[in-house]
Amino acid sequence: MKQILIQTNILKNNDDIARKNRQRLNDQKIFTINLLGSPGSGKTSILEQIIKHIKPKVNMGVIEGDLYTTKDAQRIEKHNVNVIQVNTGGICHLDASMVQHALQYLDIDYLDFLVIENVGNLVCPAAYDLGGDMKITVMSVTEGNDKPLKYPFMFQISSVIILNKVDIIDFTDFDIEEFYKDIKSLNEEIQIYEVSCKTGQGIEELSKYFESKINCKKGE
Ligand code: MG
Repeated sequence: MKQILIQTNILKNNDDIARKNRQRLNDQKIFTINLLGSPGSGKTSILEQIIKHIKPKVNMGVIEGDLYTTKDAQRIEKHNVNVIQVNTGGICHLDASMVQHALQYLDIDYLDFLVIENVGNLVCPAAYDLGGDMKITVMSVTEGNDKPLKYPFMFQISSVIILNKVDIIDFTDFDIEEFYKDIKSLNEEIQIYEVSCKTGQGIEELSKYFESKINCKKGE
């Protein structure tokens, strides 16, 4: 009996395209991040804050992944940033071929920094490499500190965690010590930035981190 392992084939095909995307972005020396996190964690809000800080110094592009709407892309467009909307039509993650397609519509000769905002989800997007430099997960304190252990793969593959909405932490049951302990148990190397888009806390530090990565890539 012939057994077809569809999941394996799909992921292998995805990884092949991701490799091509990565090569193309590396050739152009574009620092590229895959921005992940639950719906409502604040991915777009953080992106808007980062744009305000670094756009004057950096040529930036954004690929916005969303199930059906252009709401996030419209927010980004208001900051005069090149943005391409990818609607997955109900699929819960972006894949490498969607990014490959979107890259055709960005002026990549001109870019230094590309942010790919994935569909809001802590499970499926983790399995699909898109071809960037790093994966960054946004998590807000309102989601609860149990999420790293409940969705370990997302936190294991991320290089940075942005803990958002820290201005309202005292109004939640979020146990920050346990959060750090759990995250470090999954991924010792991970960096954590505590931010608030409302008060601006941590945004400058995070922007500086991105600037250093962008400059490092340009100098490669
Ligand atoms: Mg968003």
